[in-house]
Amino acid sequence: MTSKKESKELKKKKELALQVIERLKEEYPNSDCTLEYDREQAWKLLVSVRLAAQCTDARVNVVVEELYKHFPTVEALADAPVEEIEKLVHPCGLGNSKARDISACMKVLRDQYSGRVPDTMEELLKLPGVGRKSANLVLGDVYGKPAIVTDTHCIRLSNRIGFVDGTTEPGKVERELWKIIPPEEGNDLCHRLVDHGRAVCTARTKPYCDRCCLADICAKRGV
Ligand code: SF4
Repeated sequence: MTSKKESKELKKKKELALQVIERLKEEYPNSDCTLEYDREQAWKLLVSVRLAAQCTDARVNVVVEELYKHFPTVEALADAPVEEIEKLVHPCGLGNSKARDISACMKVLRDQYSGRVPDTMEELLKLPGVGRKSANLVLGDVYGKPAIVTDTHCIRLSNRIGFVDGTTEPGKVERELWKIIPPEEGNDLCHRLVDHGRAVCTARTKPYCDRCCLADICAKRGV
């Protein structure tokens, strides 16, 4: 059962979340996914998001251009030798495991979904190389469903701002955020947290609290 103290805490966090959402909307009105893909070809987002592990989105966007010149469809990628895919995705790092996952994932899309990307968390999680973070990104960006993408920026900022209390485990952060963020706001908020995390609340330098639009409401935990 939730104690009085816990529900008071939750209420405070919900209020904080609403304020943060509004301010970041003003600050970053056009935030979007920085992986480039065509929404009509959602399988390309699955490829890009797999390649983006431990690699920048900018590099992924360049690498996939060459990959799709050689293998422009789900079928072509599903039929491609893994070694060929590996050579092309090598600049993104972890070439072998990424190529294997992409190959296996495209085979499933071809054989079980006629090339379509499924639109439920349950089905997405069964695809090779797809975890909750990727599945949420697809649900939110491609299908416009409620989604919370707990990437490194989301986790760092959620802790600093005070949405979560010292947890860095992505699944736990996601569960905590679902409690305080209106479902329809989750996906856009996560894109805005990425933009804010890159521009202001940075990981590699001290965050620039002096020029942050959240400075007066942020808990600044660990800063
Ligand atoms: S006030 Fe500082 S810690 Fe808080 S979000 Fe802004 S930059 Fe990050």
